[in-house]
Amino acid sequence: MYFNYYYDPTMIFLLPAIILALYAEFKVNYNINKYSKVNNRQGFTGADVARQLLMLAGINDVEVKITRGKLTDNYNPADKTLNLSHDVYESNSLAAIGIAAHETGHAIQHQEEYFPLVLRSSIVPLVNFSSHLSVPLIFIGLIFSRGSSFILNLGIILFAIVVIFQLVTLPVEFNASRRAIKLLTQNNFLDESEMPAIKKVLGAAALTYVAAAVSALANLIRYIIIAKNRRD
Ligand SMILES: [Zn+2]
Repeated sequence: MYFNYYYDPTMIFLLPAIILALYAEFKVNYNINKYSKVNNRQGFTGADVARQLLMLAGINDVEVKITRGKLTDNYNPADKTLNLSHDVYESNSLAAIGIAAHETGHAIQHQEEYFPLVLRSSIVPLVNFSSHLSVPLIFIGLIFSRGSSFILNLGIILFAIVVIFQLVTLPVEFNASRRAIKLLTQNNFLDESEMPAIKKVLGAAALTYVAAAVSALANLIRYIIIAKNRRD
């Protein structure tokens, strides 16, 4: 069967994923922008919240640091640092304390050896390798696989590993946000009326991970269909 991948009909699979990704990006920007301007009543900064929640969780070997960039907040299990961007570290906005509590949630997951996080960390080297090679191999496979589809199939298998990683990321992220909301409420960092804002910020952030996973999955389905059409 003649198959022109420049006018690839399987591109249609990407459309819902692209729409979802744009929507998630809009939502996260909108909510972070909005709630970066609303201070929490008790005036805690992101750094205060992270340090106090770590202390309350009995974690004293994680360092809270300031890091460059916007929305670059992360917990690094390799050196046990909780890195907060300038906008989060020093701000006492609702967005800042929501994000700081979320990253603390990751530090607690690490301490508790929360299974999806352990699994996710264990496949990182394989995922790095796969994510660099998968798409080039798929393209090489499509151009040169007149005789054998081995390269194409290998590329698809490596891409599937990347998809698995994106899927394993989802419970890790959802769980960190659930922990954040619980920690902030139980330890009286917030009152009831401040909670919806935190939920909106963290919900929007979670949606970006869902969009990334959906987009990876849509691409995988596309590649499988293209490979199958090649064989027919
Ligand atoms: Zn996270």
